[in-house]
Amino acid sequence: MPQKRLIIIGAGILGLATAYKCRKLLPSHRITIIEKESLPGRHQSAHNSGVLHCGLHYKPRSLKARLALSGAQEMMQFCRRHGIGHQRCGKIVVATDQTQIDRLKALQRQGWENGLSDLRLLDQSALRKIEPHAAGTAALHVPQEGIVDYASVVRQLAQDIRAAGHQIRCGEKVTIIKERRNTWLIQTPKNEYLADFLVACAGLHSDRLSLLSGAPPRVKIIPFRGEYYRIRPERQHLVRHLIYPVPDPRFPFLGPHFTRLIHGGVKAGPNAALALAREGYRKTDFNLAEAMDAATFPGLWRFVKNYPQMTLEELRQSFSKRRFCQSLQRLVPEIQADDLAPEGAGVRAQAMSREGALVQDFEWEERKNALHVINAPSPGASASLALGGEIAARAKQQLANR
Ligand SMILES: Cc1cc2nc3c(=O)[nH]c(=O)nc-3n(C[C@H](O)[C@H](O)[C@H](O)COP(=O)(O)OP(=O)(O)OC[C@H]3O[C@@H](n4cnc5c(N)ncnc54)[C@H](O)[C@@H]3O)c2cc1C
Repeated sequence: MPQKRLIIIGAGILGLATAYKCRKLLPSHRITIIEKESLPGRHQSAHNSGVLHCGLHYKPRSLKARLALSGAQEMMQFCRRHGIGHQRCGKIVVATDQTQIDRLKALQRQGWENGLSDLRLLDQSALRKIEPHAAGTAALHVPQEGIVDYASVVRQLAQDIRAAGHQIRCGEKVTIIKERRNTWLIQTPKNEYLADFLVACAGLHSDRLSLLSGAPPRVKIIPFRGEYYRIRPERQHLVRHLIYPVPDPRFPFLGPHFTRLIHGGVKAGPNAALALAREGYRKTDFNLAEAMDAATFPGLWRFVKNYPQMTLEELRQSFSKRRFCQSLQRLVPEIQADDLAPEGAGVRAQAMSREGALVQDFEWEERKNALHVINAPSPGASASLALGGEIAARAKQQLANR
């Protein structure tokens, strides 16, 4: 019997993790990953904070809560097995006033509900003992959280997939997807592929891929750029753990924070400024078609109308290092603008509804013989192996019911 064909669009960490899981769950399938860039993992998977989130920030019983917890454990094991850099350095979430202390306690309860048993609430003196330069009247210590070399994880996944005889076709952008009886015809400017099952993990373009295959998604991807600064080496002693603010529960973004880097050093960021191009890594990047697409989406206007202050402040921080630094000084007052050197940016693929709500959980759309991942922002890298396993299981179930 000829082998069945599974096509995955997108060789970011999620497309690769999905292929990695499908190798075992769908052994009769030959897997081909199609990627438009010349190498795997060039977009969100290469421009993130490198943090291993294990489930604190997500609504109990959500996919994010469940898959961050199990995914982080699996990611640690994967890194250990392959000698990939990772470190459980712990995170502290810092409260700077009384309302934040109440939210910190709520965050602790949520973390417990999500399965994080050893969270510890610290008073000011306990906080100073473990993080001497942090501001704050109280903090939550999350010892399980850490940092990971996601670039090496991407390389290792790609290597394992190829070693098992499957293919990763880079430099091919999928431009046409057509249903053909019980299969999908997928075209790039160079080749044509037939798939018995199709999975799309296209990050910043996930809604477009869904549209290409004939199903307009219920949401649109709105790009939010997150900029980073690197802390001058002489000032890195100001940060020992990962230091986060208490997040605003209305948004999935966690607010600029301090992150230790797996290869040494400390960076600060990311903010969350609306971007004028889906792959707009620089402030000046502008894509007319994409900007028009976003500007004619009613959801974006509703979002801006609902959160004008937040939208404006994020843009201001993007253009003013001084303002960016002020937001960091709420966490570590001694940090100065001169301590910060620009360190690139990432662009989040964040799904937004027509009503202007940011989709909080991971989301996919299932169609006949296909699954489109629509929303996989943070903690998508931490949870990638678990989320890839979940997608592989859905594909297996659909194929079994055929
Ligand atoms: C600023 C920032 C900070 C973050 N911090 C963290 C963190 O600390 N911890 C964490 O767990 N997560 C973090 N995340 C989230 C994490 O990076 C993402 O959840 C994860 O990388 C998503 O992986 P992906 O494979 O879905 O997307 P991507 O890595 O974006 O991959 C999608 C791929 O699809 C390809 N593609 C798109 N369209 C086509 C097409 N038509 N044809 C062929 N290929 C196509 C793209 O080229 C790309 O390679 C962060 C993200 C950002 C942006």
